[in-house]
Amino acid sequence: MLELKNISKQYGRGAIGAADVSLTVEPGQMIALFGPSGSGKTTILHIMGLLQTADRGEVWLDGTRVDGLSERHAAQVRSRDLGFVFQSFGLLPLLSAEENVAVMLRLLGIGGEASRRRVRTAMESVGIEHRADHRPAEMSGGEQQRVALARALVHAPKVILADEPTGELDTTTAAHVFGLLHAIAEGGGTVVVATHDPVALDIVDSAYFVKDGTLHLPDPDELELWLTEGEGGLAAG
Ligand code: ADP
Ligand code: MG
Repeated sequence: MLELKNISKQYGRGAIGAADVSLTVEPGQMIALFGPSGSGKTTILHIMGLLQTADRGEVWLDGTRVDGLSERHAAQVRSRDLGFVFQSFGLLPLLSAEENVAVMLRLLGIGGEASRRRVRTAMESVGIEHRADHRPAEMSGGEQQRVALARALVHAPKVILADEPTGELDTTTAAHVFGLLHAIAEGGGTVVVATHDPVALDIVDSAYFVKDGTLHLPDPDELELWLTEGEGGLAAG
C-alpha cells in the first residue's frame, strides 16, 4: 500500500508543488491524477517515487515510512519496488532500447538469459520489440514512450508511477497502454498515472483532480466535461 500523509512542497518564488496532499492507493488499484499544467501532478509523482523530497508530510510503502531514507536506501527501494515512466522518457541516449530496459534488471543483479527473456517479454507487451536495437534518437516520441513503459514494468515492481505515459501515443496505442497498466493493477500492482487522456477515466478505480497542489475527488461527470470540453485539451502539459 502506498500512502501520502499531509505532503506539502513549495518551490522558489512561491510555486506550489503540493499542498497538504493525503492519498492512499491499495495494491490492485489504479488511480489517475488529472489537472491543468503546473497543478502539481509531476511533483506528487516524484515525491511518491522518492525522486524528490517534500517540505512536510510522510510517504509510506507497505507499512514502512520511506521519506527521509538515505539516498542509498532510497535508491534500493526505487530499483526494487518502484517503476517510473517519466514525462520526458528519461532514456539513456547511448544505449539501445533493449539495453535501456535491461538497466532496471542489472540494478537488481539480474543478467544473462533471464534478463534477455524478461526484457523481450516487457518489450512485446508494449509492442516495441521490433526496435530493440535502436537508440532513443532513432525512435519516434511514441516509440521512446513505449520503451520507457517497458523499462518501468520489466522488474515487476509493486508500484508503477506513470507521468503522462500516453502523451505521445495515438488513441489506439494509448488505450492499449492504459489496458496494460490496468492489467498490472489487476495482478496486484499499484498504479498511479498523471494524464490528460479521457480514455483513462473509464479504466481507473479513482480519478483525482489536482489544482494548485491540492487533491480533489470530483464528480466523474464534472471531470469528463473538463477533459473533453473544458481546459483539459488546452492545458495539456
Ligand atoms: P504538473 O505536472 O501538474 O504540470 P508540476 O508538479 O510540474 O505540475 O509543477 C507544479 C508547480 O511547481 C508549477 O508551478 C511549476 O512551475 C513548479 N515547479 C515544478 N518543478 C519546479 C522546480 N524544479 N523548480 C521550481 N518550480 C517548479
Ligand atoms: Mg507534469
